[in-house]
Amino acid sequence: MGWGTVIECKSCGYNLELLEGPGMGYCDLDFVITMLESDQAQKALELKDRFEIIRVDGYMKIYECHSCNVLSNYLCLQLFFEGGGKFETTYLCDKCKSHLEIIEEPVLSDYVCPECGNSTLGPSSFIARIDWD
Ligand SMILES: [Zn+2]
Ligand SMILES: [Zn+2]
Repeated sequence: MGWGTVIECKSCGYNLELLEGPGMGYCDLDFVITMLESDQAQKALELKDRFEIIRVDGYMKIYECHSCNVLSNYLCLQLFFEGGGKFETTYLCDKCKSHLEIIEEPVLSDYVCPECGNSTLGPSSFIARIDWD
């Protein structure tokens, strides 16, 4: 279970669902891996073959790009291997290819709309929270 919010841009109508929390059945790691970007998936599969996995965590997280000031929403998958190794998914900004960073509680006014570039993002008027699982 997780929570989600919809944000929308008051200028152009762009909207984005921000989901957070553990939200899927992570029992099937192979399935989860197929949902990752291809380079990430490949890395995860390689490590999975080489090492014994002792723990898997997967959460939807909100990411920000420092350079562009835009928010996005991705699955953060962490694999812990016997012997102390760890894999964590990383994501790059679509526009500037900077590393995205996880942000816990975004202040919407600090970000710009990825479509029109205006700082007019706000909570969507039609829905406040989404329950998802
Ligand atoms: Zn960027
Ligand atoms: Zn916009």
